[in-house]
Amino acid sequence: MKTANEPGKVDRTPDVDRWVLPHIARMEGYVPGEQPQGGTFVKLNTNENPYPPSPRVKAALVETVTDRLRLYPDPIAREFRATAAALHGVEPDMILAGNGSDDVLTIITRAFVGRGDVAAYPTPSYLLYSTLVDLQDGRSHVVPFSDDWRLKVDDFHQPGLKLVYLANPNSPSGTALTPVEVAELAESLDCPLVVDEAYGDFARENCLSLLKTHPNVIVTRSFSKGYSLAGVRLGYLVADAGIVAQLNKVKDSYNCDALSLAAGKAALEDQAYLAETRSKILATRERLATALRTLGWDATDSQGNFVWATGGRPAVETFQQLKERNVFVRLMRYEGCPPGLRISVGTDAEIDRLLEVLRGLP
Ligand SMILES: *Cc1c(COP(=O)(O)O)cnc(C)c1O
Repeated sequence: MKTANEPGKVDRTPDVDRWVLPHIARMEGYVPGEQPQGGTFVKLNTNENPYPPSPRVKAALVETVTDRLRLYPDPIAREFRATAAALHGVEPDMILAGNGSDDVLTIITRAFVGRGDVAAYPTPSYLLYSTLVDLQDGRSHVVPFSDDWRLKVDDFHQPGLKLVYLANPNSPSGTALTPVEVAELAESLDCPLVVDEAYGDFARENCLSLLKTHPNVIVTRSFSKGYSLAGVRLGYLVADAGIVAQLNKVKDSYNCDALSLAAGKAALEDQAYLAETRSKILATRERLATALRTLGWDATDSQGNFVWATGGRPAVETFQQLKERNVFVRLMRYEGCPPGLRISVGTDAEIDRLLEVLRGLP
């Protein structure tokens, strides 16, 4: 081991390569979308909501700052869970809250996927699933979407299968399986099926109703997209109470802080505000998709707050040109597929700016 020679000049080129678990050493680690700081740009790359959160969120935060920060938060998020349960018409013991839905997905993976176990998910889809499986030293079974974004149930079946993830609506495509199709997949599995509804607030349908008939379904929700709260980090899952009881043992004791829980509760209580921002985003989304098609792109019929554009101008070059003009979209590359641009639905002014820049590109 190398030693320090002068204070302040500690050479710590460590033996970490030898210490770290081999499966961690082999990983590349998840790379989140770029979060440019400062400056003026149009940010359409990580599917944030362009509108501010409900005014009730601010009031709840002020109250929490004043009264609650001295104390630990409720480790089992009782008030938040009661609100979410009432909204969805389920029992509070069917809800588990997490530090963003990514934390919820981590908790699920840690509970169900052990070393050498198989977890399956479609591709192209949310890239975090593979990272979560790698962290467990599990094995990923990747199921390709067809060209029209459909899946075959049988493609998921694998020896040693312990968990299936399905982003529905899917990212980057924005397409969704119907609840009937998801039910068919759930029925065919002898393991939990995570229906990741991070974009459920923008979709035509959701899979919450399957919980009554399919006890292996776990629905996850996020506050980052529909509720404009990506900055506070809060998500939750709805599942059979027996599943939730096991997952409760896996989560960190205080995985949600008092501010996030208060913000989330207030946001859920303002469904009228959600409906209002949602309808603005859906209208802008259709306008964006139509404009992209007019410009020669294939844009999927999206049920998320983003549009997946392929087949127009070369994606890599366009991404770069947009970035040079302070318009950030997400360039996505998946093995075996041509690269595409995933463009978040911003305000009308932001989308006008994007389209103006796109039309003016050399
Ligand atoms: C954004 C996103 C998440 C993560 O949401 P957080 O609540 O911000 O952690 C999960 N799944 C999908 C498919 C997403 O796009």
